Amino acid sequence: MSERAINFSAGPCTLPLSVLTEAQAEFVDFGGLGMSLVEMSHRSKAYQGVQDDATRLAREVFEAPDDFDVLFLGGGATLQFAMVAMNLLGDGRKGAYVNSGAWGGKALDDATHHGDVYAAWDGAESGYSRMPADAELVLQPDTRYLHITSNETIGGIRYAEFPDVGVQLVGDMSSDYMSRPVPWERFDIIYGGAQKNLGPAGVDITFIRRSILAQTNRDLAAYLRYDIHAAKGSMYNTPPVFSIYMVGKVLAWMRDNGGLAGMEEAAAAKAGMIYEALDASDGFYRSPVEVASRSHMNVVFRLPSEELEQRFVAEAADQNMLNLKGHRDVGGIRASIYNAMPRHGVEALVEFMGDFQTAHG
Ligand SMILES: *Cc1c(COP(=O)(O)O)cnc(C)c1O
Repeated sequence: MSERAINFSAGPCTLPLSVLTEAQAEFVDFGGLGMSLVEMSHRSKAYQGVQDDATRLAREVFEAPDDFDVLFLGGGATLQFAMVAMNLLGDGRKGAYVNSGAWGGKALDDATHHGDVYAAWDGAESGYSRMPADAELVLQPDTRYLHITSNETIGGIRYAEFPDVGVQLVGDMSSDYMSRPVPWERFDIIYGGAQKNLGPAGVDITFIRRSILAQTNRDLAAYLRYDIHAAKGSMYNTPPVFSIYMVGKVLAWMRDNGGLAGMEEAAAAKAGMIYEALDASDGFYRSPVEVASRSHMNVVFRLPSEELEQRFVAEAADQNMLNLKGHRDVGGIRASIYNAMPRHGVEALVEFMGDFQTAHG
């Protein structure tokens, strides 16, 4: 094999090498059954075992209480933007949204088509450089839920502490999924696409509080109803079998590498190394985000000029460090360092940052 890239892609993104090689070994002949997993009925005993394992591990790794159901759904996190509002706002109550950036804004935009929703806070004024304090949220009467984006993948900001405002939370955790413990009692729904921390694209994982399933809107197409997916064990229609299989393997890797506490500690250490390098660079590298909201998953920074930024990306690529270009909407540099990014990858980046500054600073 060619040398494995140090891949800072924002998603889909790097996965543990052991997971890839295991999947490769199993791909053509799954479990000695003479066929690949992707050739099997999703109703087969072998596949049911795969999905049951992934469900059990998702619960275990994320330390989810028993009164939450785990759903594997198509449509990515994006479909959840609509499904949350469709299912929860049928009764005339309102959905509150924290517009913390690109993803929080999209969640709000999509929800406007399906219910009475409003921005409880808008980060535009502060350039989406931080998450709000609870006291800044303006909540209206009859608010059913507060939707948050735990980590803004493009802006590079995260909630260090989750809101505690007396309204149940719905959280899009796509880009820091299962990288830290959550206060489950404050949440009714947590969802996210798998393709950042948990596996390949093609599947969303939604945790939903079982007790709210009795009140969700029924006047929807079957696929859009949480209660049906829950009743059918995420087998209402054909689930994305290969993605779920891969997620199961990544979850087992996470369990074997310290679980949630291990992921949290590793993420803080990796992100800390890069932020330390930024802070020690005498302003050569600048972070546009406020310190208290710094993401542990997507570290964004600027150099003195766009020309130097282009050079930085190109010279890093020469050293096998790929996909460091910031999102096209905001520019700059973005190093995405999800759970599977090895520590040595971050060490290589920090060393390169020092060399680059010496050469061009
Ligand atoms: C990537 C991402 C999404 C979109 O996920 P899809 O699976 O592509 O729909 C939504 N929210 C956040 C925070 C993301 O990082």
